[in-house]
Amino acid sequence: MPSENEEDLISRVYKLILGKGERGILQSELWKKLNLTSRDGSRIATKLERRRLIMREKVLQNGRWTYRLIPLVVPVDTSSVEGLPCLKCSYESRCEPGGSISPEKCQPLERWVLENYRKAEG
Ligand code: SF4
Repeated sequence: MPSENEEDLISRVYKLILGKGERGILQSELWKKLNLTSRDGSRIATKLERRRLIMREKVLQNGRWTYRLIPLVVPVDTSSVEGLPCLKCSYESRCEPGGSISPEKCQPLERWVLENYRKAEG
């Protein structure tokens, strides 16, 4: 595992997935790009999936099963996810829609959405 802080690495992985657009990217291709072991890569993919930022789709590639990592929301450009609080949230493992910690009740997320909305409005 590189010495990079894990949350920074998660952000980097997410941005690379976003950069591939709606089709996403094969996880093996991504791990190669980032020089990650499949064990470390899979752990990061699972975290992004739990944060509901990506989905993993099982695909057959050259006769072997693997996963394609697909962004659930594709922003116009990756800079628009800059500062998304979920990318560095320590509550992510307990956050779920309808739960006691949830996106609907999350103030940092609400602030981030409003700030970005204001920026977009100019
Ligand atoms: S608590 Fe808020 S910032 Fe954290 S993962 Fe949930 S929605 Fe995102």
